[in-house]
Amino acid sequence: MEKDYYAMLGVDRNASTEEIKKAYRKLALKYHPDRNEGDKQAEEKFKEITEAYAVLSDETKRARYDQFGYVNENDFGFNPSNFDDIFAYVNDIFGDIFGNFGSRGSRDYSRKRKGEDIQYQIIISFKEAIFGASKEIEINYQKVCDECNGLGAKPQDFETCTYCKGAGQIEYGNFFISMRKVCPKCGGSGRIIKKKCHKCNGKGFVLEKEKITINVPRGIDNGYAIRISSRGHESADRVRGDLIIYFKVLPDEVFRREGLNIYLDLNISIPQAVLGDEIEVDTIWGKKKISIEPGTQSGSQVVLKGDGVEVEGAKGSQIININVEIPKRLTPKQRELMEEFAKEMSQSPLSSQEKNIFKRFFGQ
Ligand SMILES: [Zn+2]
Ligand SMILES: [Zn+2]
Repeated sequence: MEKDYYAMLGVDRNASTEEIKKAYRKLALKYHPDRNEGDKQAEEKFKEITEAYAVLSDETKRARYDQFGYVNENDFGFNPSNFDDIFAYVNDIFGDIFGNFGSRGSRDYSRKRKGEDIQYQIIISFKEAIFGASKEIEINYQKVCDECNGLGAKPQDFETCTYCKGAGQIEYGNFFISMRKVCPKCGGSGRIIKKKCHKCNGKGFVLEKEKITINVPRGIDNGYAIRISSRGHESADRVRGDLIIYFKVLPDEVFRREGLNIYLDLNISIPQAVLGDEIEVDTIWGKKKISIEPGTQSGSQVVLKGDGVEVEGAKGSQIININVEIPKRLTPKQRELMEEFAKEMSQSPLSSQEKNIFKRFFGQ
């Protein structure tokens, strides 16, 4: 048996469903994370007993477990590696007993509501993404109107809604059934504005401009985002949401980037490829000398380790893709030399040997 669920709950193998429930309840209260803040062992234990309970409290699963000694994770009714999911399950079955000291979900309701987040896109250059930058932006955020305190009008400028007579709901239906719905005129508040607040025009909030300096982190790339807390819209509770900055990185004319690596295309001439050379190339860190080995092929690469993007100590490479340029036009002199060169090539022992092989196989 992989896991002894009966032992975990401390019950007999013949225990009734009622006994299992009682045992779980007792242990769940003991190991509930709200009572064992930060205690990893208790948390683990809580997961275990919940899993045991999920299986043993269900007749079909229990029968399968008794027979095979295990139950597939997919059959628990929750994802055992996700704590929120376990809580949702536990709250579903025992909402009443955990209610007295607050489940995870209900905890958040006591907090003040946060305002909406603001999403903002910043366009930065290729180099700014690599080396970081400081950018000043201006945002417009919603702020509770000080004049009317977010109500849309001064207290004396409200009147009772005549449509629902202040109830906020209206009754409709016929002789047999009667139903209620939110008053369409006042939206459920039971009051309507007689005279709108002059500052916010009855909206309850005003738009406020704010300048914010964004520190673009080093090494970021397209699709990255950062969250700046409390720079979003203000809620009715006057708590601001967050500002989420998305980065769009403009392409560079010379370099291409993939993760931490930088790619550069480099054209070299035939003599450089054949004879070798020392060339100065651009890197994001400045000019750098590289040597082209004699006999370099088109499509080969030169890798400069450590010359790529640097993020938190990790360094990429600069990868140089070599392209040997074949000239489309030759001067008469170049042509002459090329023909000379070709003649010389055809007399090399290797190429005549190749010709013989061709003859033998293809009869040409
Ligand atoms: Zn106002
Ligand atoms: Zn109304």
